[in-house]
Amino acid sequence: MTLLVPFKRHSTAACLLLAVATRGFCHNPELRRFEFSQIHMATRFRIVLYARDQATATRASNAAFARIKTLDNIMSDYQPRSELMRLSKHAGGPPVKVTEDLFRVLAAAQALAKRSDGAFDVTVGPVVRLWRRARRQHELPEPERLARAQKLVGYDKLRLDAKARTVQLPKPGMLLDLGGIAKGYAADEALAVLKQMGIRSALVAGGGDIAVGAPPPSSTGWRIGIAPLDSPEKKPTRYLRLHDAAVSTSGDVEQHVEIGGKRYSHIVDPRTGQALVGRSSVTVIAPNGTTSDSLATAVSVLGPKRGAELIESIQGAAALFIKETEKGVQTFEVRFPPNTPPSAVQPPHQKL
Ligand code: ADP
Ligand code: MG
Repeated sequence: MTLLVPFKRHSTAACLLLAVATRGFCHNPELRRFEFSQIHMATRFRIVLYARDQATATRASNAAFARIKTLDNIMSDYQPRSELMRLSKHAGGPPVKVTEDLFRVLAAAQALAKRSDGAFDVTVGPVVRLWRRARRQHELPEPERLARAQKLVGYDKLRLDAKARTVQLPKPGMLLDLGGIAKGYAADEALAVLKQMGIRSALVAGGGDIAVGAPPPSSTGWRIGIAPLDSPEKKPTRYLRLHDAAVSTSGDVEQHVEIGGKRYSHIVDPRTGQALVGRSSVTVIAPNGTTSDSLATAVSVLGPKRGAELIESIQGAAALFIKETEKGVQTFEVRFPPNTPPSAVQPPHQKL
């Protein structure tokens, strides 16, 4: 009963991971496998879960998708009326009270921004906008515009007040972008909804961000395949078995633009305003999806050496870094695959 769950590309999704339901018989005759999918956050979200019957499975997955939809309405930078975009409209003004969800994600983002010396930085919005346009028009951003946008970037500018639950963007024109963390958070939250509804064995995947709960019946974990660097459609080259953990892949396989023979990624270095160049893919395992998603982006920016130091400093984190260099494809591993998978999904709002 092995079923492949292919992560078909949809818009912004970097779909490098393939989740495969575990092989073998389900020894618990009461539990059956169900699979659902919906598009949210411009990405296909998939839920695989074990439940007693179709009605229970449908009810639980609907609640989980509804939670993802709510989060999309809060965090989207494509929807002008999302809470995030309304907040950005207050840039240059006083602090703004935000929802708990938005505050939690921003707090987690800021914690990683500090630990990664700004390699992960959600204030990168103005620069990301210019690179998005560059991808559409096949033209590099004008250096002057990039320099102007870059002045608005810097996590130290973003002010969070946990007591008042407010956020302040002090400079007019500042723009937040949660593209490197929101899908991981949504996967965590969807998994939490399923758990609340009594579903323990479940997998939630938002593009390349996957959070898993308890293993499928009679197995030691969810089997996750990592696709090769050149094509996410090809057969996975490596497999992981995980439970109560999360795994994310960041890469430029699908979202990049080639200009003048150089390949520019959709991930940018917030400290320089430049898009990453060259082909790479980073897969990170962490206790929850908020952490794995943002860490994968951070490690992509930091590169193998500094990225490895960051991974080593975070409990329960492991990484596989694949990079195309002049010497060919090089692979760097940090505690990968982990001997003991992270034992429990920690609440995503916990400090890293
Ligand atoms: P994907 O969206 O393909 O899963 P990532 O999780 O790596 O990939 O997120 C990349 C997205 O995050 C970009 O499209 C952009 O919106 C945003 N982003 C780009 N660079 C950074 C960065 N250095 N720090 C934080 N967010 C970033
Ligand atoms: Mg990411």
